[in-house]
Amino acid sequence: MALLIRGGQVLAGTPAALTRSDVLVEGDRIAAVGPGLAAREGTPVIDASAHIVLPGLGNAHTHAASHLARGRAGNWTLEDLLTHSAANYGFRTPEDEYLSAAIGAIEMLKTGCTSAYDLYMAVPAITDEAFEAVVRAYTDVGLRVVLAPAVADVVFYQTVPGLTDQLPADLRRTVEEMQPAPTKGLLGLTERAIRRWHGGADGRVRIGVAPTIPNQATDEFLDGCAALAREYGVGIHTHLAESKVQAVESRRRWGKSIVARLADHGILGPGFVGAHSIWLTDDEPTTPVATCAWAAGSRRCARCSIAGWRWASGPTAPSAPTTRTSSRRSASPPSSARFASRTRPPAGSTRTPSGASPPAAPRVCSGRRAIWAR
Ligand SMILES: [Zn+2]
Repeated sequence: MALLIRGGQVLAGTPAALTRSDVLVEGDRIAAVGPGLAAREGTPVIDASAHIVLPGLGNAHTHAASHLARGRAGNWTLEDLLTHSAANYGFRTPEDEYLSAAIGAIEMLKTGCTSAYDLYMAVPAITDEAFEAVVRAYTDVGLRVVLAPAVADVVFYQTVPGLTDQLPADLRRTVEEMQPAPTKGLLGLTERAIRRWHGGADGRVRIGVAPTIPNQATDEFLDGCAALAREYGVGIHTHLAESKVQAVESRRRWGKSIVARLADHGILGPGFVGAHSIWLTDDEPTTPVATCAWAAGSRRCARCSIAGWRWASGPTAPSAPTTRTSSRRSASPPSSARFASRTRPPAGSTRTPSGASPPAAPRVCSGRRAIWAR
């Protein structure tokens, strides 16, 4: 099957410049770019003379589950959002998950994205059936996707210092009784997804490994994720130092930064992508393993600046050259900004950046005992 896109402004050449050209597509490949291209009789022609023709964009970080929860968040920090996970994402059917993923995939296509890196999460747990529904949604819409089950084996409420201390006794008891997901079960779920779906839909579906937030991953789980990535040659994606709470908690609990901890467990490497990467510090890339991984050009960050502003997690460093929401990869160097320089809210924001102290009156949406995702 062929397609001729006629007369658009095509971005091409070195240095890149807009040039009026035709684009001939044959099968799933661009066969030719240039003026006055001929095509076989019967080839469909699109008149692009009033348009710019550009390659499909890649959304470097998204969540299939989020699209049915739009408009439900208040003036929240990231930790507020995670506290409300059960209310926003909880107890859906596979059909719900299909619909949510399809809405997101269709919207991406309509705004120029042809590929996405999706950390799919569910509450209380991702099931094989729900994961299959999300794969089917992306396949039906036709978007290319790297889809990763975003999971955790540490309960979120245990990762915010002082949170449970401020809860009323009955609610504290409920939270303290929540059980984390079994580590081996999460690794098994991820491995099944890789074995069943990686390379599916003629290669448009690939599977990744996603310890969703490093502070919600035990050392054993991080080791298991790294082993899976090595064994199957797939990528690893995580929310990297998205909030100050996460950065502070990592140093408090493990005595090291999040990046240093990931490096110790072999998570950083050519297939690693860190989402957000806001609360990084000068000393993080100086750990030997991290230095190797990052200096080798393997550091990939999906900045998601708008999310940082939305949750008041902090702006990306003003000096950072890349602050884009969607990008296949960023070549920005390790930030030189220190914690203190990132405590201000973004311009125009009336909210307080998330900090080490928990909110004065925390709200907890108590789901069932097992909170698997995030
Ligand atoms: Zn995310």
